[in-house]
Amino acid sequence: MWSPSARFSALALLAIVAPATIVAVLGYVSIRQWGASSELLYREQARDMATMAADKVETTLRRTEDAFLDRVQALLQSSAPLSGALDELLAGTPLIRRLYLIRPRGELVSPRAWQDSDQDILGPLVSAGAMRRLAREGKREVFANNHVCLALLTKRGGEPVVAAFLRDTDTLRREILETTLGALESSTIIAVLDHEGRTVYSRAPIGDAQRLLSVEFREELPDWRLTVYQAPGASPRQAVRRQVMLFTGALGVLVVVIAAGIVATWRLMRRETEMARLKSDFVANVSHDLKTPLSVIRMFGETLEMGRVTDEGRRQEYYRVITREGERLSRLIDNVLDFSRIEGGRQTYSMTPTAVEPLIRATLEAFEYPLAQQGFKVAVSVAADLPEVTMDADAVQQALANLIDNAFKYSGDDRELTIDARAAAGWLVITVSDRGVGIAPEEQAKIFEKFYRVGRSDTQGRRGSGVGLALVRHIAEAHGGSVTVESAPGEGSRFSLRLPLGGS
Ligand code: ADP
Repeated sequence: MWSPSARFSALALLAIVAPATIVAVLGYVSIRQWGASSELLYREQARDMATMAADKVETTLRRTEDAFLDRVQALLQSSAPLSGALDELLAGTPLIRRLYLIRPRGELVSPRAWQDSDQDILGPLVSAGAMRRLAREGKREVFANNHVCLALLTKRGGEPVVAAFLRDTDTLRREILETTLGALESSTIIAVLDHEGRTVYSRAPIGDAQRLLSVEFREELPDWRLTVYQAPGASPRQAVRRQVMLFTGALGVLVVVIAAGIVATWRLMRRETEMARLKSDFVANVSHDLKTPLSVIRMFGETLEMGRVTDEGRRQEYYRVITREGERLSRLIDNVLDFSRIEGGRQTYSMTPTAVEPLIRATLEAFEYPLAQQGFKVAVSVAADLPEVTMDADAVQQALANLIDNAFKYSGDDRELTIDARAAAGWLVITVSDRGVGIAPEEQAKIFEKFYRVGRSDTQGRRGSGVGLALVRHIAEAHGGSVTVESAPGEGSRFSLRLPLGGS
């Protein structure tokens, strides 16, 4: 059958650990799902934002260039001299670095001559085919990696003229890209890359940011792309990872707390079970301890009563046995009563200055006969200069009697009892030593607990209730003192009772 503590552990496992595990698994799964869907949402949002940003750039660029071309067209229609007005217009439009107005056959209308190597780039572009295409589709065309634009205009009198202009990349970056993209609200890094993947513009240093997605521009900036990067640590996946770590940590703490709670309760239950066992042992031991001296008293009393013992010497011995057993009974009953008073918090002590030596001798007197009968070698040494010590004499005598009784009970063949009393560093130290069975180190702290008996009475074969040393400790502590033990199995034990000497 399972013990109560084992049943408790199993129940705790079922009632707490199992639901905790289910919660942990569900929590983990839902965080993972949430992570996956938020990643998807994040990407969708980033794509929408990128498409919108690219549109905005193109619209702004087209609007600026359309306004410029409208003004050129207006100048071409007017009768005013062209070159001065065009220079002025160009000076006011920094996005356009240079403008050439070209007749379909390749002649320049304005300016008079090509600059640098512009003719090499623009000449081949302005062909009859290009003119027809422009006329047919009625829109601008962008060439040379977005640096050159062509548009079809008409001169006064209806003659077609190609306006070929060169964009200024710096101004494009500053006035179009930066003003449009810089104002966007987003935690991502937006960049514009040219046809070779070089960064034309970036909202923040890209560094080791991770590329999220790219969208292409349309007519205004073909071959260029708007790319969205994710700053390190900003992705939902990483946020989820952090959440998972947090969740795992919290769960770990929870599990540790629950486990600690179970262990503590289990210990408590084991203690309670042990205590219940000790209590029942206590009752059995006390009953046995009461019965034995009583039957001895009765037997000797009856024998004497019947007048069968004629020898005076033997009679005297019987009386002594009866007295000794009576004393033993009183001690036992005192122990039990005092113990129950202590347990109920009803024990009181009356402190009076007491001479130490007479107290020790009086205590020992009660044991004189049994000690002598068992062949004990008794040695008492009390320091001569001991002052009177304030104490409850009855209680201290009871404590000493318990220590002497134990020395008597737990001695084997080596029967020696030594009592020593002296003052040391403000304490009265009374030691009671024997050369008996001794106490194993792991038991030495436990023997002062109530009901505790090493190896239990039935196995040890010695009488006792298990409350003697608990009482000694209580008496010592009630005096502001202590009781300690030094012992080794098979070599004997030495109990030291310390009471404060100090001016009280
Ligand atoms: P008990 O009534 O069993 O003697 P105590 O509280 O006086 O109860 O002692 C508790 C246990 O400590 C004893 O059961 C015994 O095992 C051990 N013990 C006490 N005194 C001695 C000693 N002098 N030598 C060996 N063991 C001792």
